Amino acid sequence: MIKKFIQKIWGQPQSRRGLVDFGKRVEIPASVHGINSNLVDERALNVVRTLQDAGYEAYVVGGAVRDLLLGLRPKDFDVATDATPEEVKSLFRRAFIIGRRFRIVHVVYGRGREHEVIEVSTFRAHLDNRAAEQVKGNEKTSKSELAGMTHAVDSSGRVLRDNVWGPQDEDATRRDFTVNAMYYDPESQYLVDYHGGMQDAKKKVLRMIGDPVARYREDPVRIIRAVRFAAKLSPLGFKLESKTAKPLATMLNLLADVPQSRLFDEMLKLLQTGHALASVAQLQSLGLHKGIYPLLDVVVERADTPFVKAALADTDRRVGEGKPVAPSFLLACVLWADVKVGWDQRVTQRVPPFPALQEAIDDVFDARIGDVSGRGKLAADMREIWMMQPRFEKRIGSTPFSLVEQPRFRAGFDFLRLRAEVGDVDLSLADWWQEFSMADDAAREDLIQQAKSEKDHLPASGTAKKRRAPRRRKPSTNNVSSASPSAEPGKLPSGE
Ligand code: ATP
Ligand code: MG
Repeated sequence: MIKKFIQKIWGQPQSRRGLVDFGKRVEIPASVHGINSNLVDERALNVVRTLQDAGYEAYVVGGAVRDLLLGLRPKDFDVATDATPEEVKSLFRRAFIIGRRFRIVHVVYGRGREHEVIEVSTFRAHLDNRAAEQVKGNEKTSKSELAGMTHAVDSSGRVLRDNVWGPQDEDATRRDFTVNAMYYDPESQYLVDYHGGMQDAKKKVLRMIGDPVARYREDPVRIIRAVRFAAKLSPLGFKLESKTAKPLATMLNLLADVPQSRLFDEMLKLLQTGHALASVAQLQSLGLHKGIYPLLDVVVERADTPFVKAALADTDRRVGEGKPVAPSFLLACVLWADVKVGWDQRVTQRVPPFPALQEAIDDVFDARIGDVSGRGKLAADMREIWMMQPRFEKRIGSTPFSLVEQPRFRAGFDFLRLRAEVGDVDLSLADWWQEFSMADDAAREDLIQQAKSEKDHLPASGTAKKRRAPRRRKPSTNNVSSASPSAEPGKLPSGE
């Protein structure tokens, strides 16, 4: 009965499907695709089973299928189903409908840092621009009007609302790359492919489904996604198909209409999913080094400077090792050069160092960080990292004791260490703080004495040296933040 009702909603006259090529459903058995079903996340498996047991179709979909096929470990699992978001929600204890432009369900497992989200999306109908025309969103369409629409595009064809459910073949055609448009049923172990994704995966080709120009127009963020997947899969030998790559540089202007916060998020995905250096290389070789997003332009421009290069490489390494990374750390690295210029200028004008630094930071935020979601927290974290830097130079009195207890000490220290690695500060300063953060109180006093002696050009006292060894780890420093790149396991107590 419910199914019939849904079919009625879907009910698309043949004409609406028009001449679009929805591909042909091909079911590929495990003996051919070779995916190891044991690699499917348990929670994704549970979501698929629950939906199937309730009588719906359900598959693992998108990037997870692509990665499983390529022998990579998927970083997250998405599920696609013919159940509506409300129906999905009703089947799980902790499920939340999110998004307006694109309504999906988050099924949540576990709590706190260990929690896992499985994204469940309902099969989307083919975007019929004639149908969308009727509800065309334009500058005068208010947010509340738009919220009532299920399907809307703006005057350039950019999709504003996309909540019309449809059959699986239409859903497949709506996805971006052929290798991202396969469905895997972990129960039957069949791979469902409409657009030759499996063949393209074998040929190592990244091919946009349909006409790339129309697809970039529909959603210009696909331009950035093309760069991201080209970067991620380049070590495996993947290349963008020429028709997919060709329009990229000429269509960049379309990104001007995309909300800043979405561009910011996509920029972070380019930089923080383990392929930052490869992404910069792709941006350069595809002629996209300028014009995607102002802050990304700065990253590309500075990617060859020692400090930013080290920060990008370090981020890649951390992600590769499964460690957390924080956007505030990377962006603090990228914009450090601006902060330093503004700071120097003010100090030259006799502004005292701390207020000079504060003002320089304010300027950098105004000039470089746009109106992005979470800006407040991001800015606060970046500010703390920067403001800590001159405090690292003060190794006397109680300053080091209070600094080391700060919640963001770890991020500030990692920043200092990276600066030291590229010669921006003395390596011995970073080494001193490393020792200090790991030492017990007595050894810390000795280290402060040692720093004082150095400052006074006196040799460090022998007793101090003796008392420092053997050094004990101080458990109270465990509360330092580990959410920044460049930490070395074992060097500092970090809780990683
Ligand atoms: P990753 O491994 O980085 O998560 P992914 O391919 O899973 O890559 P997601 O952003 O998680 O990418 O999206 C999941 C799937 O949803 C994609 O594989 C693709 O099929 C589809 N998709 C996501 N964004 C778009 C888009 N802008 N246009 C078309 N399809 C999209
Ligand atoms: Mg994904």
